[in-house]
Amino acid sequence: MCYAIPGKVTRINKKIISVDYFGEERKARNDFYRLKKGDYVYAQGGFIVSRISEKEAKATLDTWQELFFKLKERDLRFSEKSGNLRKAANRLRQKKSGNSCCVHGIIEFSNYCRNDCLYCGLRHSNCSLTRYRMMPGEIVDLANFSIDKLKFKALVLQSGEDTWYTEEKLVKVVKGIFKRNPALLILSIGERNFKIYERLYRAGARAALLRFETSNEALYRKMRPGHSLKERLELIKKLRKLGYLIMTGFLIGLPGENNKDLLNDIKLTASLKTDMFSFGPFIPHPKTPLGNEPLPSLDKSLDTIARARLMNPEAKILVTTALEALGKNKGLKLGLLSGGNSLMVNVTPDKYKRFYDLYPDHSGVGLDLKKKIDATLKLLYSLGRAPVDLGL
Ligand code: SAM
Ligand code: SF4
Repeated sequence: MCYAIPGKVTRINKKIISVDYFGEERKARNDFYRLKKGDYVYAQGGFIVSRISEKEAKATLDTWQELFFKLKERDLRFSEKSGNLRKAANRLRQKKSGNSCCVHGIIEFSNYCRNDCLYCGLRHSNCSLTRYRMMPGEIVDLANFSIDKLKFKALVLQSGEDTWYTEEKLVKVVKGIFKRNPALLILSIGERNFKIYERLYRAGARAALLRFETSNEALYRKMRPGHSLKERLELIKKLRKLGYLIMTGFLIGLPGENNKDLLNDIKLTASLKTDMFSFGPFIPHPKTPLGNEPLPSLDKSLDTIARARLMNPEAKILVTTALEALGKNKGLKLGLLSGGNSLMVNVTPDKYKRFYDLYPDHSGVGLDLKKKIDATLKLLYSLGRAPVDLGL
């Protein structure tokens, strides 16, 4: 997969680096490299992930030169239309962030969970689920393959809240990946001890995906028995203070949620100074207490993306796999045309993915990974989106 364009360093202000991509400037944070003006780098999610040689950079830039400007024109054509909420949001996205779009990989390494969130198929009480754990070495190998061979520059490591993965095991995983293949490593492991997050940060992880799920405190308590919204938000804030880039957000359409809650959800995401909005529709799972609740409509989900964009013009907004599941083959496209500018591709092997059963149709089992990546790139190109980092 060639879904990243390298850029040239033009300015350095301590940790904040200005990077040029075909005449467009984006800023990115640099924690790991001694950089000088003129160096070539890959950045992802506003973070410098690697430095590469001029020769390597120029070879890639040459292949992109013509396509890059064609894609820009195409995106402009798609976003010229106005008239409704989503079109206005898409237009604003184009104006503020151009046609940049991030594509992250995701590895779902364990479906064990100690929690009992009412909405989730991985909940502890779901006894009908076959559970799996990937061994630390297996996670490292898959991550290295995804970065080295599939060319992902950012990778989410996700699981249920599974304490089998001790601090030592998780550190081994992060170090094992980071030492061999630098990438933006995004942890999505739930509310683990802050000390674990501290060690993983030192080991090289730099982002955390931790949704607050709903801004409505009473609804939160009901949906996540034994947990408090306050504690979740405190953890998110502490992670941010430590230096983690934060990806957070909420579920759309939880039973009992109203339009005011949804608006507050968007506001809370922004107030956490999130680096990437991550929110998507709640999809009822038959083996959970919410199995008979209604699905939120695709329209409601797309309008929420559009509202989030209009309220936060410069945000990075992820179009989630849940929207893909809800909208079938048009979910991703419509999400990108409603203000979204980031995607995830699931690289978990089929033998595990089939059991990462958050909600029906989550896994995309049987889809050949190579074909899935090609289809994702085809979709992005068809909409005129380019793999330039979105910047800070
Ligand atoms: N266990 C970690 C946590 O909860 O943060 C990470 C994994 S958890 C499966 C990732 C996300 O899946 C949750 O934040 C939740 O929003 C989402 N999710 C769970 N059940 C869902 C459902 N039925 N429909 C849509 N999203 C769901
Ligand atoms: Fe566990 Fe996360 Fe699912 Fe809650 S949402 S049950 S914490 S995997």
